[in-house]
Amino acid sequence: MSAAAPRVDVAVVGAGLAGLECAGRLAARGVSVLLADRRRDLARQVHTTGIFVRRTLEDFPFPEDALGPAIRHVTLWSPAGRRLDLESRETEFRVGRMGTIYTRRLADAVAAGVEWAPGWRLLGVTAAAGGSRLAFDSRGGPRAVTARFVIGADGAASLVARELGLDRNREWIVGVEDVFTGVPLEGPPRLHAILEPRLAPGYIAWVAADGVEVHVGTAGYPGRFEPVAALDRLLAARPAGLDLARGRWRERRGGRIPVGGVLPRIACPRGLLVGDAAGAVSPLTAGGLDPCLRLSALAAEVTASALAGDGAALGRYAGHGFRARFVSRLWMRRAIAAVRLPALAELACLLLRTPPGRALAAHVFFGRGSFPDVGVEVGEARPGGAWQPAPPGSPAAAAQRRR
Ligand SMILES: Cc1cc2nc3c(=O)[nH]c(=O)nc-3n(C[C@H](O)[C@H](O)[C@H](O)COP(=O)(O)OP(=O)(O)OC[C@H]3O[C@@H](n4cnc5c(N)ncnc54)[C@H](O)[C@@H]3O)c2cc1C
Repeated sequence: MSAAAPRVDVAVVGAGLAGLECAGRLAARGVSVLLADRRRDLARQVHTTGIFVRRTLEDFPFPEDALGPAIRHVTLWSPAGRRLDLESRETEFRVGRMGTIYTRRLADAVAAGVEWAPGWRLLGVTAAAGGSRLAFDSRGGPRAVTARFVIGADGAASLVARELGLDRNREWIVGVEDVFTGVPLEGPPRLHAILEPRLAPGYIAWVAADGVEVHVGTAGYPGRFEPVAALDRLLAARPAGLDLARGRWRERRGGRIPVGGVLPRIACPRGLLVGDAAGAVSPLTAGGLDPCLRLSALAAEVTASALAGDGAALGRYAGHGFRARFVSRLWMRRAIAAVRLPALAELACLLLRTPPGRALAAHVFFGRGSFPDVGVEVGEARPGGAWQPAPPGSPAAAAQRRR
């Protein structure tokens, strides 16, 4: 990257999954894109467990070696240790090897023409002739870029949202997890969800054990627990009967997860928000990977159209439309947040053992409701960044037809 302030069509701030997806799709359409992240190495400081759901796996291809083994089994644990086992005939989850996914997607995006600015931390955005001026801090000193359009893919506490006067996340939970390898697994790969309000107030603790990696984590409302102490208690309790001491500890991950639903105002003439910055996370499951990919597909399309002179394009990028689809999930979030006593959680688990309760649990874990359709073909990503509609007859095309 040269020290001279470049002028680009689009500056994407943040190279998480949302920013990478947006930048790659825009470059593939011939838009000049600068992608900046305060991190230098995207394989480090990963903050997500990386569980991808079936719907994402069907629509967005990932290299086979970037995903863990298929998970079809889920066990829901009550505070008293009673288990409810659920099984699906399909592959419901796979744990992404996120360092590999980020670095491959970055290589694809760069091959498509994206200008990569590693180690650039955004300091501020000001209005400038024909767009915005972005000021960054970097190892090499201050940097400035002028962009016709700014995409804020800078996570839950987005500075771009603040600088552009867009809506900002106000409700979140905090998650922390440890990753292990080499832990012996009895039985098939399994996702364990532990409903225990003292360990995970307002959410669940989890163990994702795919036979290669084990992720043990917990999340909840800040102010109602101390995340690291809760994780330590969980680890000490031999979660899901796993003998973690026989494996190797690899890393600790964690961060904020916005759970207030997609923000209403996520676009203005100078820019837009994607991913966590836009609140695009399921308020119920706190899954954000599928929403950030889907919303990024739409963001890239409306941005390219707006830059090409379509004055109405940005009107299609309104959070209100997506919020309506989240109403029931927001209510379920309120209900879960209200469960503060273990006895109440035990009762809820008891109800989930009844046939309608079991059906509800299967719907939450195995349903295809992670994020509404965004109204564009999400298509397939190809090496080199050329994003194309799914070819007829492919699983992705079949999934697109089903919707
Ligand atoms: C502990 C935990 C576990 C989770 N597990 C799952 C899961 O299993 N499945 C699932 O679907 N979802 C999960 N989520 C949610 C999911 O990880 C997020 O919704 C998703 O990763 C959001 O991607 P993003 O690209 O929007 O944001 P991020 O991945 O947060 O990327 C934002 C990027 O912006 C950069 N950035 C921020 N500020 C600046 C700045 N000022 N200047 C330059 N760069 C900046 C950051 O360095 C970062 O690279 C989890 C979240 C947490 C915290």
